[in-house]
Amino acid sequence: MLAAVYHGPHDIRVETVPKPEIGPEEVLLRVLNASICGTDIRIFHGHHRKYPPGTLRIPGHEMVGEIDQVGDNVRGFELGQRVFLAPNMGCGHCRQCISGNNNICANYDAIGVTIDGAFAEYVRVPAAAVLQGNLMPIGDEVDPSVAALIEPFACVLRGQDAADLRDGDIVLVMGAGPIGVMHVKLANLKGAIKVIVSEPIAERRQQVLQLGADVVADPINQDLKEIVMAESNGRGADVIITAAPVHKVQESALALAAIGGRINFFGGLPKDDPIIQFNSNLVHYKELVVTGTTACSTHDCLRAAELVNSNRLDLSHLISQRFSLDETPAAFVAAEDRKTLKVVLEP
Ligand SMILES: [Zn+2]
Ligand SMILES: [Zn+2]
Repeated sequence: MLAAVYHGPHDIRVETVPKPEIGPEEVLLRVLNASICGTDIRIFHGHHRKYPPGTLRIPGHEMVGEIDQVGDNVRGFELGQRVFLAPNMGCGHCRQCISGNNNICANYDAIGVTIDGAFAEYVRVPAAAVLQGNLMPIGDEVDPSVAALIEPFACVLRGQDAADLRDGDIVLVMGAGPIGVMHVKLANLKGAIKVIVSEPIAERRQQVLQLGADVVADPINQDLKEIVMAESNGRGADVIITAAPVHKVQESALALAAIGGRINFFGGLPKDDPIIQFNSNLVHYKELVVTGTTACSTHDCLRAAELVNSNRLDLSHLISQRFSLDETPAAFVAAEDRKTLKVVLEP
């Protein structure tokens, strides 16, 4: 089969590799669509800790496919059935896994991260993923490229759960990349009364205004605090999501939050430079809640899949460009262009 294989930093090669063979407890998926995410770009640059030097692996963890083969001992799936595959598998028996947070299991595996993923014609679904419920049926009417976004959307759901976003909240989303746009869409679905977005790139500000933001601000050339205060009658933002890997974004969130505000540090910082200035008195006197989330659990994916299946959420505008598998290098270049939203591969 054809696959895009990581050979080292900036070296992803489209090549022919053996089609995966499955065991009796496993499933083989024919990949319909796989989207490129920030994690894949980090892998591409050689900055992902699960891709140490010498790793040869197929990335791709945001995927939807059709069941192509089913192991003899697997029940409940039909050939040809369309499914989303949640990438994270916990060990299944630690405290975090038992409580449903398999994304923070200390011994997790993830398809496309620790084992071969979906930038290929076929992907092997290990027994642990089959048993843990990672395969989720998707309606045939859902565009597969949209279904592949269930994984990043599940991360967004998890972030807003942590920030306890409620109806009536004024929300500030910092960053209008694909994740920022998904936060805007979910905040609207949850009943935010106003969604303010700060984003330095003009094209992205225009784009997010059409995708559900009420107000946009340029944090470089405008006074963001003045805008947030004016738009909230001096109250500040009840919920702030930082969706950009920038120190200043996290630092300024404390000052932009309302009394009793909730902040989610959604985007991480560069791993060699993660220290920020943190005005602890703002947390103390405003009784702020500062949260962090990383990736998503299988349960988050299930809820995201149900939302996408329900048709109450339109993620189709997030797809900027589609590429075939042999165009993977070009797709990575496109995914790094800071004007695109989601770039998808259609093997
Ligand atoms: Zn992702
Ligand atoms: Zn575990």
